[in-house]
Amino acid sequence: MSKAVVSQLYNSEFFKMACRQFDVAADAISLPEDMRDRTKYPRRALCVALPIRRDDGSVVVFEGYRVQHNLSTGPAKGGIRFHQDVTIGEVAALAMLMSWKCALAGLPYGGAKGGVIVNPGLLSLGELERLSRRYMQELLPVIGPQVDVPAPDVGTNEQIMGWMLDTYSTHVGHHEPAVVTGKPLALGGSQGRREATGVGVAYLIKRYLEDLGIPITSATVAIQGFGNVGSETAVALAGYGAKIIAISDYTGGIFNANGINIAKALEYVRSQKVLHDFGGGEPISNDDLLALPCTVLVPGALERVITAANVGRLRCRVLAEAANGPTTDEADRLIEARGDIEVIPDILCNSGGVIVSYFEWLQNLQHYYWTRDEVLAKLTVVLDRAKEAVEQQKLKFKFSRRLAALTLGIGRVVEAKQRRGLFP
Ligand code: NAD
Repeated sequence: MSKAVVSQLYNSEFFKMACRQFDVAADAISLPEDMRDRTKYPRRALCVALPIRRDDGSVVVFEGYRVQHNLSTGPAKGGIRFHQDVTIGEVAALAMLMSWKCALAGLPYGGAKGGVIVNPGLLSLGELERLSRRYMQELLPVIGPQVDVPAPDVGTNEQIMGWMLDTYSTHVGHHEPAVVTGKPLALGGSQGRREATGVGVAYLIKRYLEDLGIPITSATVAIQGFGNVGSETAVALAGYGAKIIAISDYTGGIFNANGINIAKALEYVRSQKVLHDFGGGEPISNDDLLALPCTVLVPGALERVITAANVGRLRCRVLAEAANGPTTDEADRLIEARGDIEVIPDILCNSGGVIVSYFEWLQNLQHYYWTRDEVLAKLTVVLDRAKEAVEQQKLKFKFSRRLAALTLGIGRVVEAKQRRGLFP
């Protein structure tokens, strides 16, 4: 029997999409048959039940996962998502993307992701802390600075990383900051980590606009998602002089042709938690935001929002994938056929986050801390190198930019696996 018997465990549209992306890339680089399933499927997964005492005294059990897709290139690395729609298949797909992303950026990491099925907005601070600690407690057998290093993702933040660090450190008996990244500065977090993903997205947009001969000061930008990534992208792009004409969150969007005051929007969200009723423009739906005529469209919320059904409505020149997996593979093919949109694929576009997470981990291991300027200068060096490699691969093989990025990332993981050989 030559083919693996594939389990149904990761059965989700997002996982199937990530597998199809892998298959296309594997064909494009004529990946040997005996390396395919070994590279494609996750190495291991842990599913945990998390009983939490609510503030009213009742007990509720949440379900959580950690999927480690690849451990052949270093400790696994990837965020933890708290969201009501989390599935193990979604977590596995995100873990797979982390493997290619880390390899593309040349980081000495594998790929992983974690998730808990929960709407964190419905928990009190105390309940959230108990859930975060319990999740880390259950993950102890598979987590550690040299094993797997989590970070924030949708619905998690610095404070949650702080609680997880404390849980792990209490278990091992000493302060161990390198066990998570994206943590508070007071606990060994890195300067520049909070804004790193958005800063990286904005930097790459600037570089690609330069390549297209479009001055960033004449660019208009629509951004879906105003959490960590979306808001920091907005701040950085506004800092470059771009006009942010639309922003949104799960409650809907705001459109202002004259440009949205991002500082005011941030202030509003800090106090109100959501953009709903922010007065800086007219309301717009998330669907209509995607169809706005603009220079740059930034999907920065969740996956699979640009589909075959709405891709025909896109009117941007550049699609900068700040979220992971925002474009379905069907929509991707249609964008390629249209030929009028430059895509900055997710594994390149949002890699600033994991690059600065790597810097944070390095600083923790060395107990030597860098300034924000040092961090951001090193970030642009790594981003430039990754961008250049993608452009060369694109040119050399006449690939789309996504295929160029994927084949580079996958190729590096495959090479490591080949060099290690098969055990036993
Ligand atoms: P976050 O929780 O801070 O923010 C998510 C934002 O998306 C919020 O504004 C939320 O309201 C909005 N949102 C949720 N559902 C939505 C919907 N249906 N329509 C429109 N908006 C919706 O999360 P984040 O850390 O900013 O992550 C956003 C994306 O970026 C995710 O795909 C994540 O995997 C990816 N990413 C995050 C990082 C990081 O460092 N945090 C790094 C790389 C990639």
